[in-house]
Amino acid sequence: MELTKALELFNEKKRISMAYNHAFGVMSYDNETAAPKNSSIGLAKTFEVLSELAYKLTVNEEYFEVIDVLMEHIDELDPITRREAELAEKGLRMMRKIPMEEYTSYQGLLMEAHTAWVDAKLSDDYSLFEPYLKKIIAFHKRVAELCDPSMDPYDFWLNEYEKGLNTEILDKFFGKVREALVPLIKKVVEKGEIFRTDFMNEKCPIELQRQLSDYIMEVMHINREDCSIGETEHPFTTHFNKHDVRITTHYHEDSVVSNMYSVIHEGGHALYELNTGDDLIGTTIAAGTSMSIHESQSRFYENIIGRSEAFCELIFPKIKELFPVQFDGVNAHDFYLAVNKAEPSLIRTEADELTYSLHIMVRYELEKRMMSGELTTEQLPSEWNRLYKEYLGIDVPNNRQGMLQDSHWSGGMIGYFPSYALGSAYGAQIVHSMKKDLDVEKLVRENRIDIITAWLTEKIYKYGMLLRPAEVLKNACGEDFDPDYYINYLTEKMTSIYSL
Ligand SMILES: [Zn+2]
Repeated sequence: MELTKALELFNEKKRISMAYNHAFGVMSYDNETAAPKNSSIGLAKTFEVLSELAYKLTVNEEYFEVIDVLMEHIDELDPITRREAELAEKGLRMMRKIPMEEYTSYQGLLMEAHTAWVDAKLSDDYSLFEPYLKKIIAFHKRVAELCDPSMDPYDFWLNEYEKGLNTEILDKFFGKVREALVPLIKKVVEKGEIFRTDFMNEKCPIELQRQLSDYIMEVMHINREDCSIGETEHPFTTHFNKHDVRITTHYHEDSVVSNMYSVIHEGGHALYELNTGDDLIGTTIAAGTSMSIHESQSRFYENIIGRSEAFCELIFPKIKELFPVQFDGVNAHDFYLAVNKAEPSLIRTEADELTYSLHIMVRYELEKRMMSGELTTEQLPSEWNRLYKEYLGIDVPNNRQGMLQDSHWSGGMIGYFPSYALGSAYGAQIVHSMKKDLDVEKLVRENRIDIITAWLTEKIYKYGMLLRPAEVLKNACGEDFDPDYYINYLTEKMTSIYSL
């Protein structure tokens, strides 16, 4: 096949598959937010039909040839098409290397594994899920072996989620984190309750909390013509193009802060998608480049900006205006201290900024050892509990609040967790670099977060997936990843808050 022919076919298929993805995305979003419960009955059928069409579009010999031709001529392609081709090739690699029947039987296994995990969690009975986890781990080893026998199997999967990532980098990262944060957490715990948090669980009417969400979006300078807020149990962000980004949040009457920080977190994800370059519109790379860079942005806005004293001072008048009784006698400084309370806890998704990475570290160590064969799935719960005691100093009362809490492993996501911790660490390094150009605190106080976003757009957002994660970080910081920024950031912040 000639290159021009391959490009023509590539662009045509791309146009169609992007339209499918748009349709899938809108239907999934509708299903999560507005659709009645029983809509899933009809939706499943529609998904099945459309998935089959989407699958046939790219999983066929002609398309494989298109990709092979593009990869042969990769250096002749313009930078955008080159990245699109590389990512398309990566997306198909597994399907081409794994025998079809193994691939489909694995998809079936994942469906069953998810149900088994739900049952196991509900009944606090790990034995219902353990056989599935064993098979999922075995499949991951097998795929790594088939796709790249020269690579360590766990490294293979880390690299799938985050290009360039491996256990060598992570061992160094988590080693430093453990060394610095475990004693820091101990000191914080020893300090005990030194500031008030009693007002945090006052009842705040949901209608007024919705007004607070709108205000937060305004403060973040998010254009509501391009970005809406929906409501779901678990908040998330999705996007179809840079003019159609959707975030969701959840409202709990007795925790105004929970919603507030969900909006800021998802707002951070949204800002990334809203500010990808115009030159990427209509391409497959108009999106955040990786999960950890994405998380670096959401956690940057949520924690580094959103939990700063400047930000608390900026928004507190609005909180007082909306909830005068609930926050009677509370000032912005009280609020700032309360939202930064650090405390070892059992559940990752509810963990504070200081202890969060240790939850990830436990999962990383266990995954690594399961993938190397050093740890069996039978031994998992006791090792989980041992590590929680060692790092966070807490006893895990049951598997439901222990190793069964996250759905990731049941969904076949092995090697995904580390990106959450990396995101936090990247954020600290990025803000350090940003402060060379901007007076971040002053801008926040003056309600000019748009200038901060403009800096991030220039260094990160506009590239979409054109740059790989490590390149993005280097572009924004002028140096490679260095976990010391994260450790210093947390140490300084906690030392000041807890007067250590
Ligand atoms: Zn997130």
